[in-house]
Amino acid sequence: MDSGELHTNPPLRINSIYGACYDIHGVDCHRCENKAIYTRRYSGESLCRDCFSLSIVRKTAKTISRYNMIKRGDDVAIAVSGGKDSLSLLHVLNNLSTKGGYTIRAVTIDEGIPGYREEALEIVDKYCKGMGIQYSVLSYKQMYDTTLQERLEKRTDSTSSCSLCGVLRRQAIEQAAAGADVVATAHNMDDYIQTFLINTMSGDVSRIGRNAVGTSRRVQPFCNIYESEIVFYAFINDIPFQSEPCPHMDEGIRTSVREFLNELEEKHSGIKNNMNKSIQKIAGFVQDAKVRRTCRICGRQSTTDVCSVCRVLERTA
Ligand code: SF4
Ligand SMILES: [Zn+2]
Ligand SMILES: [Zn+2]
Repeated sequence: MDSGELHTNPPLRINSIYGACYDIHGVDCHRCENKAIYTRRYSGESLCRDCFSLSIVRKTAKTISRYNMIKRGDDVAIAVSGGKDSLSLLHVLNNLSTKGGYTIRAVTIDEGIPGYREEALEIVDKYCKGMGIQYSVLSYKQMYDTTLQERLEKRTDSTSSCSLCGVLRRQAIEQAAAGADVVATAHNMDDYIQTFLINTMSGDVSRIGRNAVGTSRRVQPFCNIYESEIVFYAFINDIPFQSEPCPHMDEGIRTSVREFLNELEEKHSGIKNNMNKSIQKIAGFVQDAKVRRTCRICGRQSTTDVCSVCRVLERTA
């Protein structure tokens, strides 16, 4: 793990993306009488299964309250892709919603990626039915009258599949969540740092403002939680998630940035945590400095004359 150790015997490997896990240590939980199954390297704290789960729920509740992300009576639409982050978010918010006095529902976007999205749709459908959570799907085909695959085939420049897909999905989530007071996405701390570095490396300063936390109806309750800890939360809570990665996942620079950051964290525990704090401050400054206007083609809110969705659709028409 990049930020903690799992005490299992034999050593447990969840997934090569998230790193290796370690042997049993016979360590006591720092919060109760049970044996610890996980040690947070960055804090030195060892936790048992229940205390670890509770720590993730509490950390999420603290983030929601600190940034005033969700209020009593809110209708919260959760963007659920079928991956471990979004299904864990659904699980955590479902736990917190009764006490918090808000309702939740799940929305999934079908990009039209052959052989990939079907598995996730099935997992989310089954999971939501089992938990009694309202669930809806919106496809690019319904929204843009096209699929990601069709757009990628017509692409004439070097735009990565994920940049193209991400722009279309952002708007599709807004549409699928129409009427909701809050749209919650499962971006975790690692996603945040990666996105910041990618935007910085590509010279796209205006996008850095999107990293600002708690500045719109779009909220990210996992933004202060390590990706590795969300994987572990999903694992110990028996949350099913899609095993098949998107075929476009390794095309962009994100995988290299992720590996670079994991190596850094391995050598310097807690470095992601520190970076995250700095990034949230910088993103807040950029966000405040942005001028808001409307896209001259579709009329949606934009920071440029033509919004990113219209630019993508024009480039791949
Ligand atoms: S990995 Fe890229 S192309 Fe695949 S669903 Fe995610 S953003 Fe879209
Ligand atoms: Zn405990
Ligand atoms: Zn537009």
